[in-house]
Amino acid sequence: MKKILVVEDNRMMGVLVSKRLQQEAMYDVTWVQTMKDAVDLLQTEKDNFFAALLDYNLPDAPKGEIVKEVVARGIPAIVFSGLLDEEVREHVWSYKVVDYVLKEDAQSLNYILALLKKLEQNKQVKILVVDDSKFFVRFFVNLLKVQQYQTLTANSGEEALAVLEEHPDVKLVLTDYFMPKMDGLQLIQKIRKKHSREEMVVIGMSSKGEQIISARFIKNGANDFFVKQLTTTEEFYSRIAQHVEHLEYVRLIKESAIKDFLTGLYNRRYFYDAGGGLYANAKRDNVSLVCAMLDIDFFKKVNDTYGHDAGDEVLKHIASSIQKRMRKTDIVARLGGEEFCILAVNMQDEAVDMIFDGLRQAIASSPVTINNGEDTIHVTLSIGVTTVLDESLDEMVKKADTLLYEAKEGGRNRIVSDCSV
Ligand code: GH3
Ligand code: MG
Ligand code: MG
Repeated sequence: MKKILVVEDNRMMGVLVSKRLQQEAMYDVTWVQTMKDAVDLLQTEKDNFFAALLDYNLPDAPKGEIVKEVVARGIPAIVFSGLLDEEVREHVWSYKVVDYVLKEDAQSLNYILALLKKLEQNKQVKILVVDDSKFFVRFFVNLLKVQQYQTLTANSGEEALAVLEEHPDVKLVLTDYFMPKMDGLQLIQKIRKKHSREEMVVIGMSSKGEQIISARFIKNGANDFFVKQLTTTEEFYSRIAQHVEHLEYVRLIKESAIKDFLTGLYNRRYFYDAGGGLYANAKRDNVSLVCAMLDIDFFKKVNDTYGHDAGDEVLKHIASSIQKRMRKTDIVARLGGEEFCILAVNMQDEAVDMIFDGLRQAIASSPVTINNGEDTIHVTLSIGVTTVLDESLDEMVKKADTLLYEAKEGGRNRIVSDCSV
């Protein structure tokens, strides 16, 4: 459980914040009311806190002194305050905080919860900072680290390309415009040959006084642009967060196009798209390919007896049991209703029947709990398995389906396979 430090002298606020963080986000909250108590606590516990929520105005620290103490110990700090004029605002940001939140706002607690969640997610986001000025590299890396982003650096376009080669999972690149040899525009053009705007965000930066090149950055494939000296920390963070969020939406949309919503398995479309590739490879390189069609027995009865929601629970359970027993390289898909299909490469002929019969037995011997543990249902699977490559993937699926039908006719809860060993 992640630990959060809350320093707030107002009892009502302290109780409210602690309660919501504990109940809704499962954080382990330590709440103290003064700077003295906080500092005492940090003597022994400083390495344990994931983040801190700090009241700007405390009885023994009326001007944000607590912020400095906490940030100095490397703990990401979120400041909340009842008052936020320009002076306080600047003062808060000068301490390298994650963000500040106005207390009066009814939405402020929701905002804090979202912010903490984002901090956790940012740890998975890699950002590359490219600038020939070591000062600016350090400057932006320090800012990004406060928000818990993973950072990589490069002092030239060439170096940046080498870093991207080694870390293709970089989500966002910040690049300076004017650099010797390869400038920011040339770098972006090179990046775009490999990584689309939807997959890797590139933000161009230039120095005040350089020619205005925002439009050229965008035209060359940048997602955004800013002038280094004119951007406030707050604006910088907001832009980065917005781009990271956008990438996540794109990822979700792409995923929902190929996955079944209920079970999380691949859908029929993906099965035939990606399966076509596996089939072609198998045919060309003469490697083995196994196609198995699986169908839950008497599933209609489950729905009729326990209701559709329970039926859904069973589908999810079976799907995850199937997935668990297959390898990452296999395609496991829900083709429709209560019917699943598996394409597996490089399965030893001798092992085929054993693997699928093992799966059948595992399902038959582990009842599914439904209705919050109130009922348990025994379900079984019938399975048709073919190892004959035939003329097309479609033919293979039809063959597996015919064998599945034989398994049903033969009494269900069994596998029928054409594997010759
Ligand atoms: P058999 O052993 O011959 O396969 O019998 P069965 O009852 O499993 O097969 P049948 O094709 O008669 O019924 C399949 C049932 O699956 C009917 C349909 O309502 C149900 N079903 C299909 N999709 C879903 C779903 O997404 N959720 C739920 N709960 N039920 C579904
Ligand atoms: Mg430069
Ligand atoms: Mg069925």
